[in-house]
Amino acid sequence: QFDKSKGQHILKNPLIVQSIVQKAGIKSTDIVLEIGPGTGNLTMKLLEVAKKVIAVELDPRMVLEVTRRVQGTPYQTHLQVIQGDILKTQLPYFDVCVANIPYQISSPLTFKLLSHRPIFRCAVIMYQREFAMRLVAKTGDPLFCRLSVNTQLLARIDHLLKVGKNNFRPPPKVDSSVVRIEPRNPLPTINFKEWDGLIRLCFNRKNKTLGSVFRQKAVCATMERNFKTHQALNGALENNGDTDMVMHLGDTTNDDSMDADGDMDTMDEDMDGPGVPSTFKDKALAVLKEHGYDDKRSSKLTQEDFLKLLAAFNKAGFYFS
Ligand code: SAM
Repeated sequence: QFDKSKGQHILKNPLIVQSIVQKAGIKSTDIVLEIGPGTGNLTMKLLEVAKKVIAVELDPRMVLEVTRRVQGTPYQTHLQVIQGDILKTQLPYFDVCVANIPYQISSPLTFKLLSHRPIFRCAVIMYQREFAMRLVAKTGDPLFCRLSVNTQLLARIDHLLKVGKNNFRPPPKVDSSVVRIEPRNPLPTINFKEWDGLIRLCFNRKNKTLGSVFRQKAVCATMERNFKTHQALNGALENNGDTDMVMHLGDTTNDDSMDADGDMDTMDEDMDGPGVPSTFKDKALAVLKEHGYDDKRSSKLTQEDFLKLLAAFNKAGFYFS
């Protein structure tokens, strides 16, 4: 029978299956990646329109079932089933991804797809309703969060279809939604780890002002750790004769490293809590003020604001990964 721990909820409404396939805009030359084909309801419809379907399925019983379903049909040679965990499987080339996924892997799967190269044309995926609403949430929406900002940096995301729980067997506890993900072309050329590091800090307390977020001891400590990592990396590069990589945050050759009393700032003085020099905090706050973000809240910032903020911080020598 169906294994709930593997998120096995079979889509039993053929109209919804048909609608998903139609909205994916599959061409007869396309290779389609399906995740979790289960008993093959979606797979059979995909095979009618695609050149080839590659389906990755964790459960060997389901692998058997979907393989049997195409046996003796003209589709037999157009279906490749890979048994395994999609999160641990090296993805093949594909043009379009269509999937009714197990909801517990929503987030890592979405980012795995978006970091796959060459980038695909579009993905049409069934998610738990709330997750889908987070994916599409815009600046100012109550569900606008780190997930929204991160995915929308990499893709255009549209809500396509609401699907009630009774369209599945057995019905899941929550309602679902089908979402279309279209990777941005060209993809932004920023360091995604850096970007996510900043977004993570900003959305830790998304309704507080950025000024108060960057005043927190834990945030200052993270920035200090990152600074030291970059400083160590810089040192290693300097030893290799490459000196042009990372700006020193506490660079004593800068004018602004002088205290009001004329002393030179050092990393060990002027402590603001255990091990955290206040220079980190003060400099971060100065960057925020200079760009007008100290009294702004993350929930109200746009994609463009976050890009500007990251550039301003990096320019001042702050790193987030
Ligand atoms: N596609 C079918 C349908 O729409 O009726 C079944 C969808 S069901 C929600 C999810 C399927 O994904 C199940 O067949 C389950 O065994 C499979 N699955 C669960 N975890 C997986 C993983 N990590 N990698 C690949 N498949 C997985």
